[in-house]
Amino acid sequence: MQRTIRIQIENQDLKETIDQYFQAYCLCIDKGMELHTSNKKKIHNATYYPIRKMYPSIPSALVQTIRDVASENLYTVKLKVKPIPKNKFIRYDKRTFSYKNGQVSISTTNGRKKFNVTLPKFAEKYKDWNCKAGTVVLRNDQLWLNLIFDKETKTIDNPDTFIGIDRGINNIAVCSDNSFYNSNRLKSIKGKYQYLKAKLQSSGTRSAKRHLKKLKGREKRFVRDVNHCLSKQIVKKPYDCFVLEDLKNIKKYKGKRFNKKLGNWSYYQLGNFIQYKAEELGKTVIKVNPKHTSQKCSKCEHSEKTNRKGSRFKCKKCGFELNADLNASRNIASLGKSQIGRLNVIQPNVALATIAISPQINVDR
Ligand SMILES: [Zn+2]
Repeated sequence: MQRTIRIQIENQDLKETIDQYFQAYCLCIDKGMELHTSNKKKIHNATYYPIRKMYPSIPSALVQTIRDVASENLYTVKLKVKPIPKNKFIRYDKRTFSYKNGQVSISTTNGRKKFNVTLPKFAEKYKDWNCKAGTVVLRNDQLWLNLIFDKETKTIDNPDTFIGIDRGINNIAVCSDNSFYNSNRLKSIKGKYQYLKAKLQSSGTRSAKRHLKKLKGREKRFVRDVNHCLSKQIVKKPYDCFVLEDLKNIKKYKGKRFNKKLGNWSYYQLGNFIQYKAEELGKTVIKVNPKHTSQKCSKCEHSEKTNRKGSRFKCKKCGFELNADLNASRNIASLGKSQIGRLNVIQPNVALATIAISPQINVDR
């Protein structure tokens, strides 16, 4: 699990470093394009000594990250354009950077420098996490330090600590511990917004358009608030592992119909909030395939489309009867349990591989 905290900093040595770093980065990109390769080793062979010679004050560990970022970015754009980001940047790793108790120690073209930074209040909870990597970005002549905090996620071996969460249809969420979160209030307020929006849209005047924009913002904030409250309540439950359906390919599975009034995005948002907040508490979130979760019997596993009728579930085989969303949440929980074997495999540390640099790529260069 990772969190990135952005802090504004002032440092002349870093400003000089970022200029030279960026020039050297562009040199690697040019060489990669010329040789038509994103291969790290080839780029290294073609650029390492020329860069050391041209920019002798860039520490060699930084020259290596220049080559790494260049090679990764060339690979990402498949050598079709020069991947030159809009803002200058430096990537730091554990050889060139450390952060502990508010103190940053960082390599520059003028030697290793130390200075203190203050974490914003909301980020104080990360101060005991690992921070071995970061980036420095120059945006509008202002330096920003991105501290990347890292924490290992707990592994689970007790299957009783699973809870399945079903989103959509009759309720916003139903959990396999028999708790229901109905969407009546949300639906009625969203309904009001929809009525007002339709009225404004049909009028079409300029002031109506302005009003419509405001209304859309207000509606979005309202749903966001509901999702915040709801996810907070759910992750507080005494479970270590929260199982959700993976909604990425939801359209493929016609068995699951979301309430049209609420719109798909609010379910995605709820899922994202649950994941974010659960991880913050050191808990795990598993996503499972949503196929058949609403038509399978959670007691005998018999799956049939007609098992479900509206909000009721009645198994055609064993006669088991239950609220349909609750039945689905139990299926989701058991899918999570069966997936856990894969989760316990130790995951490699991807901290350094995923440091994102600005995604905007200037094609004109
Ligand atoms: Zn059954």
